Amino acid sequence: APFAVTLVTLFPDMARAVTDFGVTRRAVENGLLALETVNPRDFTEDRHRTVDDRPFGGGPGMVMKVAPLEKALLAAREGNPGARVIYLSPQGQPLTQAKAVALAAQPGLVLLAGRYEGVDERLLDAQVDEQVSIGDYVLSGGELPALVLIDAVSRLLPGVLGHQDSAEQDSFSGEFEDLLDCPHYTRPEVYQGQAVPEVLLSGNHERIRRWRLKQALGRTWQQRPDLLERRRARGLSNEEQQL
Ligand code: SAM
Repeated sequence: APFAVTLVTLFPDMARAVTDFGVTRRAVENGLLALETVNPRDFTEDRHRTVDDRPFGGGPGMVMKVAPLEKALLAAREGNPGARVIYLSPQGQPLTQAKAVALAAQPGLVLLAGRYEGVDERLLDAQVDEQVSIGDYVLSGGELPALVLIDAVSRLLPGVLGHQDSAEQDSFSGEFEDLLDCPHYTRPEVYQGQAVPEVLLSGNHERIRRWRLKQALGRTWQQRPDLLERRRARGLSNEEQQL
């Protein structure tokens, strides 16, 4: 059965960013990923199909209206039994590669994309298992964060990436846990006077592997020393210490 994701959103068309393009589109076509949407607007009962409500305590901004959102969440959970329910929120735990790996091991996901100032706190307490943030900045809605999460998780599902190892070779993954990726090159061999590093043309796989690891360590040290600290805390291999 495909990995089932249900996105609860006022803007279901945004899901096309996943279903209509590239790797994730293929995952859907090949039955490895199923993405459904549930729109709280379809659960409204007033003539204007109202999905927002005024905040208690006053102030600017609206809050997602409770009744349609609750019904939408219940419908989403019913259609995706056993799924982990996640609210995308700047207040959540950061989305990391390790978090993506953990989520890919769930039976399925229900993702709640907020709008306006967010969701009534009691609804979160009652209906949501976990909150996830994609970074320390504020977006206008939870749809893009949810799509980011779905993309990161999809790449980890068995069979989604063509080449068996290619997820293992990205930044943060496999041998590169807590490391940034090494640089990549393709033709031409010389571009704007700059030649491709000679080692990559050598055909010596062991030398190439060492060179890539060294590049990854060097970049991480320059760009993201915080990551390297984390890797060091877990213990560097002898080879890495030499490099
Ligand atoms: N008042 C909320 C707060 O400060 O926590 C932010 C509301 S934001 C304008 C609207 C919605 O966008 C949120 O309900 C959430 O679903 C989503 N959102 C915004 N930034 C996000 C982020 N960094 N990560 C995940 N979701 C985010």
